[in-house]
Amino acid sequence: MTGRLSLKWSLPLMLATLSLMVGVFSLMEIVDKREGQVTSQAIGDGLSYANHMARMAEQGWSTNTSLVLGDMAQVATDPRVQVVLILDETGRILAAQRYAWRGRLVNTVIPSFDDVWRVAVSSARLPQYRTSANRGRLEVMHPFDLPAKPGEVRSTRRGVAFVDFDLHDAYAEARYDILINLMPDMLAGLMALIYLGWILHRQVTGPVGRLARAVDALRQGDLNTRVAAKGPREIAELGSSFNAMAEAMQHARAALAASENRLAITLHSIGDGLIATDAEGRITMINPVAETLTGWTTAAAQGHPIGEVFVIEDSRIGESPRTSVDQVLKQGATAGPAGHVVLLARDGSRHPLAESAAPIRDANGNVQGMVLVFRDETEQYALRRALADSEQHFRTLANSGLALIWTSRPDNKCDWFNEPWLRFTGHTMAQEVGDGWMDAVHGDDRVQCAQVRGEAFGRREPYTLQYRLRHADGEYRWIVELGSPRFDSEGDFLGYDGHCMDITETKQAESAIQHLAFHDALTDLPNRALLLERLGQALSASRRSERLGAIMFVDLDQFKHINDLYGHAKGDAVLKEVAERLRYYLRQGDTVARLGGDEFVVLIPELSADAGAAMRLAISVAEKIRIALEVPIHIDGQDYRTTSSIGVTLFPKEHEGVEDLMREADIAMYQAKESGRNLTVCFERGMQEMVAERYNLEHALREALQQEAFVLFMQSQVDADGKVIGAEALVRWHHPERGMVMPSTFIPVAEETGLIVALGEWVLRECCQLIARLDALGHGMRIAVNVSPRQFRQVNFVTRVKDILAATGADPTRLTLEITENLLVEHASEAVARMTELTTLGIRFSIDDFGTGYSSLGYLKRLPLYEIKIDKGFVQDVPQDDSDAALVETILAMADHMGFEVVAEGVENAAQLAFLKDRGCNRFQGYHFHRPQPVAAWLDQWL
Ligand code: C2E
Ligand code: MG
Ligand code: MG
Repeated sequence: MTGRLSLKWSLPLMLATLSLMVGVFSLMEIVDKREGQVTSQAIGDGLSYANHMARMAEQGWSTNTSLVLGDMAQVATDPRVQVVLILDETGRILAAQRYAWRGRLVNTVIPSFDDVWRVAVSSARLPQYRTSANRGRLEVMHPFDLPAKPGEVRSTRRGVAFVDFDLHDAYAEARYDILINLMPDMLAGLMALIYLGWILHRQVTGPVGRLARAVDALRQGDLNTRVAAKGPREIAELGSSFNAMAEAMQHARAALAASENRLAITLHSIGDGLIATDAEGRITMINPVAETLTGWTTAAAQGHPIGEVFVIEDSRIGESPRTSVDQVLKQGATAGPAGHVVLLARDGSRHPLAESAAPIRDANGNVQGMVLVFRDETEQYALRRALADSEQHFRTLANSGLALIWTSRPDNKCDWFNEPWLRFTGHTMAQEVGDGWMDAVHGDDRVQCAQVRGEAFGRREPYTLQYRLRHADGEYRWIVELGSPRFDSEGDFLGYDGHCMDITETKQAESAIQHLAFHDALTDLPNRALLLERLGQALSASRRSERLGAIMFVDLDQFKHINDLYGHAKGDAVLKEVAERLRYYLRQGDTVARLGGDEFVVLIPELSADAGAAMRLAISVAEKIRIALEVPIHIDGQDYRTTSSIGVTLFPKEHEGVEDLMREADIAMYQAKESGRNLTVCFERGMQEMVAERYNLEHALREALQQEAFVLFMQSQVDADGKVIGAEALVRWHHPERGMVMPSTFIPVAEETGLIVALGEWVLRECCQLIARLDALGHGMRIAVNVSPRQFRQVNFVTRVKDILAATGADPTRLTLEITENLLVEHASEAVARMTELTTLGIRFSIDDFGTGYSSLGYLKRLPLYEIKIDKGFVQDVPQDDSDAALVETILAMADHMGFEVVAEGVENAAQLAFLKDRGCNRFQGYHFHRPQPVAAWLDQWL
């Protein structure tokens, strides 16, 4: 702006120039006017002078020349007049104010004289004047008649009076006058001009100038600048607007400064290094941490490409990693830590880093640069390394050795297993973590395992636990587990550590010792201690359940002889065989113990709630045992005969303990010995009567067999129309005193004593003869024979049947053998083989008393069966008993489905028959049709 005139000066100057121009114009006007007046005055005077001269010369020249000259001199005194001439007709000077000029031609003295104009004026006879171009000169010429020359009437010569005015001085004088006159006006004008300039300066240029300076100061950064908001309205408004603007700027700057301050403090105080660049990747800012790490100061780094200052290397490959600068600046993407990055500082030192970079964008989203943030990881690296080393150390510790180790999280889920554990279970870590390991825990131990762990976990207490864990080879092994809670250095709970050891061998040794402590070394049967313990338990249990149990003392008769005769080794072998047989005849839950020597004890808990039934069952078991021990013992090609004396007592009895019971059984056993050995004696009197009866029965049966005192009854089987289609043979005993004894009385005793075998053969033979006879009579039909389990299990059963068939000549296809379900269940494969062999002969098998056993129809389907007989117990209660009705219905439906014939037993009335018929049964046996009748009577109908 320098070189330009300030408003302060230019405005008054413009005003002055304007007034000057106006002044000059009006002055020129005045001067012109005045000069006009001077000129007019001079013309008038000139004409007057010339006229006077001309008159004078005309009239008096010849007469009064001196007067003319006097007048001429008079005229010449006028200061304006330069030249006064009177010229003759030739232009000769007649008179002049200068005497010397007289008589000379005018042109010779005044070379510029216009002679032509003189001639013209002379001839025109009128005075004339003319001014010079610059109006400085005025020439007046006035003609006159020269006096007539002698001889002339009238003068023809004409001279001129000539006056030459020089008006310059007159003009100058006039101008001077004007100037003098105008002086006060001009002064007043000047004063007004100055005043106006001052007003302008004060009101306009002054404030505007101050404003301009203030703006300049503001521009220079002086935000405190303010102007006085006064003067004319617009100026005042401008001032206050300026002040407001300055204030706003001041606030903005303060806010910016505060923000920058905060930013600076932040950048200086953060622990991370920070470098900012422009869009070209040149550094604009680096913070103190970055300065320290890179070794560059802000001043030195500024403007350098970032690659020169921030020099990094991938520590694994020793090369510079793919730079993220391009990625950030060109693609505007954010770059995360590359990993394994090392910063090479200016001084050559190296710092492991974690770095990230992000673009800086303007308001329009254009990338303006980037900011790189990085952290010195040296310490973390060292820490991580130390941690990894320590971890490795403990892992090695955990993996070496035999202990199976796991760790769990605070939520009680396992998160790590050591190698010995994984080798042990044969599982992978992925399979084991969480609750996966539980799969290998034995099903019986799982609940306890979870419970113990859970409870200890809840209390954050150590625990010890034993359970079975499945080894990779499939075998369960015993594990002892010691769990302890794990806490961090702050005492916060982290989970559990578990150490487990395989204690299977110890366990086995323990249980072997345990077993030895409670078992007899020779027979491996429980010893007295274990027996007493079990008896105690059985006694309490029977008191609770109110079911009676039995205890039996079994003592071998004259065992001493065997020892004495054959030596102890043989004696031991016999004892072992006795132990085997005892085991064989007892059910699970029963206990056989050896008290020592040839003394055995059998404990049968919970026989029955009914005292009578319990007695019968106890006697039956005792007898089974006694009979089993009667059978000679075969050792190394030699038979050793031994019998037993058995003492039985029942429990519980009021106020009696274990020892009392043992004593009772012992007493009973001694009675048996005293009564002749090979006997069963009961401690209870009533029971003893039963035993006696049994002995009698057994004895009588033996005799009956020999005397052939049995008789055969036949019960017909009919079809839906009531037509006889077969019969079942039912044996009876014709007792000399008791009359006809029913099979339910003697069959069980025959079964126990083994007499059934002979009896069964007799029945079979009788029936086969009957079959042959019926066929011979032309009434061939099926005859069903009951076969007892013991009979069926005889090794030579099949041969016996074949022999009898051959001997009697009976048609095997007429023979049906009735067997019971339980026979099939207990010794299935052997039974099936026998059945199959007999079936090939044409014999048919029927399942007697179906529904009372345990077999399912599905199982029977696989056997070579022809028929099932619904037990009369179910038939009796149909149709009124819903569950029996449903059962019969189901049996019929399923049998039909599987292709079995069905015979309904014990049909006693029309309602039962109707129900059965309605459900598709078409074979019946029962009192409703025919009662069992002696063979002879039964045969009569066909004769
Ligand atoms: P079981 O083989 O189920 O014979 C059917 C039984 O039901 C027979 O009893 C028969 O008399 C009876 N009975 C037939 N119809 C009716 C009726 O409508 N109402 C009632 N209440 N009963 C009826 P029994 O003759 O007393 O035979 C009983 C059991 O003795 C037989 O049952 C069978 O298991 C067995 N038994 C009979 N004879 C022999 C045989 O020679 N050898 C073998 N091992 N056991 C036989
Ligand atoms: Mg039967
Ligand atoms: Mg039956």
